[in-house]
Amino acid sequence: MVRDFIDSSGFLEKPNVEIIKPNPLSKDLLERIHSLEYIQKVKRISETGEGDIDIDTPGFKGLWENALITNGATVTGVEAILEGRVNHFYTPTGGFHHANYNTGGGFCIFNDIAASVHRLLDAGFKRILIADFDVHHGNGTQSYFDKDPRVMMISFHEDPEWLYPHEGYIHEIGEGPGKGYNINMHFPLDAGDAVYRYAFDRLVPPLVNFYRPEFILFLPGFDAHYRDPLAHLNLTTHMIRYVAEYIHNAAHKWCGGKLGVVSGGGYHPDTFRWGIGEVMSVITGHEYSAPTQNPPFEDDEETWEIVRKNVKEVEDLVFPLHNLVPHD
Ligand SMILES: [Zn+2]
Ligand SMILES: [Zn+2]
Repeated sequence: MVRDFIDSSGFLEKPNVEIIKPNPLSKDLLERIHSLEYIQKVKRISETGEGDIDIDTPGFKGLWENALITNGATVTGVEAILEGRVNHFYTPTGGFHHANYNTGGGFCIFNDIAASVHRLLDAGFKRILIADFDVHHGNGTQSYFDKDPRVMMISFHEDPEWLYPHEGYIHEIGEGPGKGYNINMHFPLDAGDAVYRYAFDRLVPPLVNFYRPEFILFLPGFDAHYRDPLAHLNLTTHMIRYVAEYIHNAAHKWCGGKLGVVSGGGYHPDTFRWGIGEVMSVITGHEYSAPTQNPPFEDDEETWEIVRKNVKEVEDLVFPLHNLVPHD
């Protein structure tokens, strides 16, 4: 579906866009991001077609090969950037941010983001930013790096009280040397573009400018769209584009353009394609505009109050650790 959309949108006819064939995830990276016991479990399920990864993540024959290639695609993109072949990549299959060292779940088998970070740490990168705007908290990714200041993770997501994976509270700010490098901002049900933009402008630029990342891995948050059936935020593709433009500019400002985009979630076929079109437009420089959208609600006073309170909580907890002062 994504390939058809990208074909029909004309992105592939542009001289600065190419398709890169993905390599499967290497054994070395796989064994660093997952326990042998879990790897064996995935293999067994894949061979027999029996058993599940988790309650919402069914097993099937061939799961192993599928997971290796979809996860390997992200690392292939990272390597294409390291080789200087491209400065940005987008992979429609990446962003398995719920998989952790011992388990999969939430439609995620292996954690391609963790594998990519390991690849970058091996290459000597010291400041890697994971900008996770998927509507679900990136609990798997957070679990790998929350003690490591070489990785800053900023996750914007729906209130974990309501939504899977029920983690990602504001007070989870990282531990030990990683304290202050894990930032969780969550939103109440029905939060739309206006409050989201407010939170973004307050939190993201100061943190990114402080951190001066060398490489950015970005999940755009297609499933935060108001038509997405799995979550309850109220964004349009205007906001998705706004975030993508900021992240893309930041990659050029701080990282020499080094930006990897992985889809993450997105469960409405139209809005998923529109989001991809907007993000592809931002990173390729070619025109695309999603159709006009009319979200069902405007942000009301209650929503504003909760979001202002949450933003202030993040600022109070994290900003002093980096000598940052909120702008009032
Ligand atoms: Zn998601
Ligand atoms: Zn660019």
